[in-house]
Amino acid sequence: RRGASLADFAEKIGVDPASLVQVLFHLGEMVTANQSINDETLQLLGAELNYDIQVVSPEDEERELLERFDLEFGENEGDEDDLMPRPAVVTVMGHVDHGKTRLLDALRHSNVQAKEAGGITQTIGAYQVETEVDDEDRTITFIDTPGHEAFTAMRARGAKSTDIAVLVVAADDGAMPQTIEALNHATAADVPVVVAVNKVDKPTADPAKVRGQLTEYGLVPEEYGGDTMFVDVSATKGEGLDELLEAIVLTADAALELQANPEMDAQGVAIEAHLDKGRGPVATVLVQRGTLHVGDSIVAGPAHGRVRALINDVGESVEAAEPSMPVQVLGLTSVPGAGDAFMVVPDDRTARQIADQREARKRAAAQAAGARRKTLDQLFEQ
Ligand code: GDP
Ligand code: MG
Repeated sequence: RRGASLADFAEKIGVDPASLVQVLFHLGEMVTANQSINDETLQLLGAELNYDIQVVSPEDEERELLERFDLEFGENEGDEDDLMPRPAVVTVMGHVDHGKTRLLDALRHSNVQAKEAGGITQTIGAYQVETEVDDEDRTITFIDTPGHEAFTAMRARGAKSTDIAVLVVAADDGAMPQTIEALNHATAADVPVVVAVNKVDKPTADPAKVRGQLTEYGLVPEEYGGDTMFVDVSATKGEGLDELLEAIVLTADAALELQANPEMDAQGVAIEAHLDKGRGPVATVLVQRGTLHVGDSIVAGPAHGRVRALINDVGESVEAAEPSMPVQVLGLTSVPGAGDAFMVVPDDRTARQIADQREARKRAAAQAAGARRKTLDQLFEQ
């Protein structure tokens, strides 16, 4: 198991920890008994002692935990006949100051539903925008988390939460280190990119230069015969927003077949969570499959509870949230982490049991880290 100490391992195979320390010492590894050992060291030790080592990854551990309750996260979309088209989920990435926040703001304000609800007072970390493409009403979900950190954190936890990345590049500045970094993240995650060439209102703007720069990194604009859509926008002037929304929908339709089953129990990912003085733990979740209902028993990372209320992106209380819909969940007993998976389970008892197991695992990992620190401290005391 990840995070296990050398002593844990010794106990498992029924030998004296000190002898393992010695074996490792001879192999050139300085490890104390209480130290948690990494996979390579474990493999080294296994080879030396003729043990077949299988490292249980956190993902495997998690899968096993859910299996014990006859549950499964992701993969299974239930009955194929129930699959329905779902909105694309979009993350905005790009170099600092290139206009990500302004663009997200401008798009949010173009949301008709928000205008009807009497302005935008509530920020829930994600929102939906409606647009018309080829005479069809289409919805797009934007995840409003700052930068690509959340995106990376979620991906690190194996939760693929984004369908499309909008890469914002300021036309006066051109591609910068974080532009390329963001692009690399999207490519690694196999997420198609739409480029928003921003700040085209500026006299020094050079949108053609941006196209040329990104072509060098493999993002070839459609107008140059490639398959990436570039859209000139001005977040401050509100120009090019409809074109950007259309490009997102067209890219989704061309590259992805976005479907989900709204009939099953809801599953998804927590985008953001905090403790609210009046309302207790509040988590913004993105429903990825199934429909989340008020009254559902849920578990989100090490948090659990029963959904007391659901608040949509314009601050309205709703009874249910369908696939690709971001929604605030009230009723959790503690605060989950950003990127934690959530799922509806059959009852409160199951939710609590799963949450407790995760909490125990978290504690064990923290303890292992603590033990490691302690041995280091002892080392420095001498
Ligand atoms: P972020 O760091 O990528 O989130 O960038 P911000 O959205 O905070 O924008 C950085 C600065 O650029 C702010 O001063 C914005 O007002 C400005 N800005 C953003 N978009 C535009 C635009 O389209 N045109 C102009 N002229 N300025 C913009
Ligand atoms: Mg910003």
